[in-house]
Amino acid sequence: MAPRFWRWWYWSAWPRIRPPPARNTPTPGFFQQFSTQEKIPQICVVGSGPAGFYTAQHVLKHHPQAHVDIFEKQLVPFGLVRFGVAPDHPEVKNVINTFTQTARSDRCAFWGNVMVGRDVTVPELREAYHAVVLSYGAEDHRVLGIPGEELPGVLSARDFVGWYNGLPENQKLAPDLSCDTAVILGQGNVALDVARIMLTPPEHLEKTDITEAALGVLRQSQVKTVWIVGRRGPLQVAFTIKELREMIQLPGTRPILDPADFLGLQDRIKEIPRPRRRLTELMLRTATEKPGVEEAARQKLASHAWGLRFFRSPQQVLPSPDGQRVAGIRLAITRLEDVGEATRAVPTGDMEDLPCGLVLSSVGPLLQRLGEEGAHRRHRHDYDRQLPHWSGDAAGPEGRAAAFWPPAWLPSHPGPAQEPRDPASLLLRLGEAGC
Ligand SMILES: Cc1cc2nc3c(=O)[nH]c(=O)nc-3n(C[C@H](O)[C@H](O)[C@H](O)COP(=O)(O)OP(=O)(O)OC[C@H]3O[C@@H](n4cnc5c(N)ncnc54)[C@H](O)[C@@H]3O)c2cc1C
Repeated sequence: MAPRFWRWWYWSAWPRIRPPPARNTPTPGFFQQFSTQEKIPQICVVGSGPAGFYTAQHVLKHHPQAHVDIFEKQLVPFGLVRFGVAPDHPEVKNVINTFTQTARSDRCAFWGNVMVGRDVTVPELREAYHAVVLSYGAEDHRVLGIPGEELPGVLSARDFVGWYNGLPENQKLAPDLSCDTAVILGQGNVALDVARIMLTPPEHLEKTDITEAALGVLRQSQVKTVWIVGRRGPLQVAFTIKELREMIQLPGTRPILDPADFLGLQDRIKEIPRPRRRLTELMLRTATEKPGVEEAARQKLASHAWGLRFFRSPQQVLPSPDGQRVAGIRLAITRLEDVGEATRAVPTGDMEDLPCGLVLSSVGPLLQRLGEEGAHRRHRHDYDRQLPHWSGDAAGPEGRAAAFWPPAWLPSHPGPAQEPRDPASLLLRLGEAGC
């Protein structure tokens, strides 16, 4: 029986001889028998984001026979490269060209609109393939866990990004931008992306691939000020210098940074390793130095503003008098304790109410589980760190994969020092083992 809801298309020029795994297999063990008899490694990758595509690319490149099936719950591939990266950063999306080359291989097939866990289970995939790589990203955002979070006007920044990037499940978001002030909780690149998209003059966004619907709403936006709030200080921000520089130079806006937040940093700056030092210097200059004549004139004419608000931890979303929507956010003022990695924000006991009509939470994604019991848990931690990552760095919190393989297929049971440190190398080992 054909699985329900499945639609697929081949990226490859050659039709595949192997059917997709089905929920109701004709005979128990059928797929395993079918796939192992060829002695060609049949690899399944769940999720078609950068982690999935880099894994597929690596396997295809290093194993001349391996076949890779990529299963993706969306109709279209590329995960957050398509639905996360901001529309005004088209150069970041160039990686799609490489992924498309991979998908065009006659040893690779893309199966869209297949949600693993719903349409097919992980155990079924394990039965059907020699190895299964789970690289399904991180879907949910973390809840704030504060009163008032459920009020209209409190949104996840991730949903907001999905909305302007055309992610089907976020198209009904309908953010209300009729307020004067928006607050973004979190100080990472996603927070800056959202602030930038909200404040960029719509005529600039017209040239990007932002959705028409989002552009229409942004054209009507009344938001004049965006606060980007963090629990800790300038040394702990998670955004990068490129994104900060873009904000500082954003047409029609001026930055608001409180020099008091940078007290004492001037003396410590030399000890800070690059590139954080450069990032901190840029914030420090923006906060404390008088702008040049041209920049001062630009800022004077600016109709919009954005600001970094440090040492503030959200306590409560404040309702409007009729209780129908957001009117502000109560923030606990914090100070830092401990140093280095252990630095944490502790409340001073003082509070501040910040009026706003929109709160966007950008406090990081949450990993979900797909029922991958039996994954090689001993190495989960390594996979979290070692996954091939499209930015070229070590995998971020979203860049996560686990791999399944029958232990008997390993050529030997090597000790930890010899074991492959990422799913792709592991799969190559399977290939070397004659699977
Ligand atoms: C808003 C945002 C903007 C970003 N911008 C940048 C940037 O500009 N530059 C940069 O370097 N990094 C950026 N990142 C980080 C980067 O996108 C991630 O690190 C990267 O996409 C992680 O890759 P991934 O393959 O692990 O996950 P994803 O890209 O999330 O891919 C996972 C895929 O798995 C699919 N999937 C999930 N569940 C299932 C299931 N059950 N069955 C089948 N398929 C499933 C998803 O639909 C998705 O396609 C951004 C992240 C976010 C959230």
